[in-house]
Formats: sequence, structure tokens, C-alpha cells
Amino acid sequence: MLGSQDLIVGLVIVLVLFGAKKLPELAGSIGKSMKEFKKGVSDTADEEPAKAVGPSTAPAPATTCASCEAPLDPSWQHCPRCGTAAAAGSARPSS
Ligand SMILES: [Zn+2]
Repeated sequence: MLGSQDLIVGLVIVLVLFGAKKLPELAGSIGKSMKEFKKGVSDTADEEPAKAVGPSTAPAPATTCASCEAPLDPSWQHCPRCGTAAAAGSARPSS
């Protein structure tokens, strides 16, 4: 029984022993086992190189208006929508 942690430790040991020069060779065999490993974890992660986290790559603004929940720029002092003073610093939307 191999846990993922054992796998990682094994990878590090192999890297130290063989060095980075043999990395391309190792990557081949490791890739095979990793594919099997990923198959066991999730059957959907087949050949997707990277997961798209969302439709928009722009990070959501950290601050939202406490009154109308409009996104606020951290540098703004007031909400342009309703005029409420924006809380400076650690303003988190309380759900
Ligand atoms: Zn507002």
C-alpha cells in the first residue's frame, strides 16, 4: 500500500540519487505511474493539462460594499453605487 506521501518521498529520494540529469528518463516512468495514480484518484482527470478555475482570470475584489455588495476598489473611500463609506483594511463580506 503506497500513500501519496510515500510516493512523494520516494520521488525526492530518486531525484537525489539520480540527479536532475536523468530527470527526462525518470519522468517517463514516473509519468506512467502517476497516470495510474491519478486514475485511481479521479477518473475525470484524464489528459487535461490544467484545470480552468473559472471563466474569468481576473481576481475578485477583496472588498465589497457593506450596503449594496458592489465590488469596491481597495483605494476607494466610498461606494460609487450607494455612497456608503468603504471600510478600510480588513473588510470581508459577511455572509
Ligand atoms: Zn454600495
